[in-house]
Amino acid sequence: MSSTSKPTTRRGVLIGAAVLTGLPILAVSEAAHAAGTLPKANAHYQDHPNGTKHCSMCNYYIPGSPKAGMCKVVAGPIDPNGWCTLFAPKAG
Ligand code: SF4
Repeated sequence: MSSTSKPTTRRGVLIGAAVLTGLPILAVSEAAHAAGTLPKANAHYQDHPNGTKHCSMCNYYIPGSPKAGMCKVVAGPIDPNGWCTLFAPKAG
């Protein structure tokens, strides 16, 4: 009996580990799928604010790490303090 219960226990541990490690990958994958494809140069993106306007205030910004997020329009990592000509302030 103990020989049949050990594999079940190991499987349960492996499934639990896969679920725990798979969730962050799924979240990153979904954020990447929502990211834009417009080249930064086409949007005249800059990695610094335009006055008081910056990406973290923009409706298209997708938060990521404190130093880089994504944009629903512009491709690549986006600095929360960056800015581009497509800037659209968040409502509210
Ligand atoms: S300012 Fe431009 S690059 Fe920044 S989040 Fe908005 S649309 Fe994207």
